Amino acid sequence: MDSSLQATSSTNVPVERARDLSHDLPDLGYDRSRTWRLGIMGGTFDPIHNGHLVAAEQAVGEIGLDLVLFMPAGSPAFKQDKLVSDPDDRYDMTLLATSDNPTFIASRFEIDREGVTYTVDTLQALRDYYSDNVELYFITGADAIIDIVSWRDAERLAHLATLVGATRPGYDLEAARKNIAASGIDFDVRYLEVPALAISSSYLRDRVRRGKSIKYLTDEAVVGYIHKKGLYGTEAHT
Ligand code: ATP
Ligand code: MG
Repeated sequence: MDSSLQATSSTNVPVERARDLSHDLPDLGYDRSRTWRLGIMGGTFDPIHNGHLVAAEQAVGEIGLDLVLFMPAGSPAFKQDKLVSDPDDRYDMTLLATSDNPTFIASRFEIDREGVTYTVDTLQALRDYYSDNVELYFITGADAIIDIVSWRDAERLAHLATLVGATRPGYDLEAARKNIAASGIDFDVRYLEVPALAISSSYLRDRVRRGKSIKYLTDEAVVGYIHKKGLYGTEAHT
């Protein structure tokens, strides 16, 4: 790992401590005279890109979030059949991309847990950890909102967090609305228009593989990390 990362990365936290949520969750909600709004941006982050960062930043502005946790998935439930980069690399890139923003926190919580990651379990753990004056907002892309009703324990999930659905301008929300209405589950969804939505990790990986530039599509430090570690089929160089 880069020496510049070592001060803040929790890669060396012993497994026992890593299972204790408190080692990397921010202290929040101690002031009970007010409501705290915690955003959770889950994803594979392989790699994190400006679409994720812009969506989170706009959610902060529109909803008034106090903090956003960026939680790379350890073993994503819906990507079991695909090759996913090493969790430590995905975490380190997430850390690099978020470290200059005090409102953004990279969290190892899902990575340090064993087994498949389900959103509902993560949200339940956060709900159990924080006091009632902390509200949870799960930020996700509109593509995911369309089939949210089929996620594990959708009904329980609906009670744990408000969903923030990032959509592209002009995106047709009808399908998502219909699915949710037909499910009969009382989801609280806020839709957020994010112009940068066309960027995806697959697009970045494909560009790197073809030797094309990903500058300005993600944080400068992430670009450097990808090249240095030779991720996504690049030749390792410094
Ligand atoms: P991949 O191309 O590998 O599927 P991805 O770009 O969709 O990657 P993920 O890590 O799978 O990234 O996504 C994490 C979360 O961010 C998901 O909820 C996804 O819908 C959302 N998301 C992805 N790209 C954007 C974007 N450009 N703008 C807003 N949200 C996004
Ligand atoms: Mg995706």
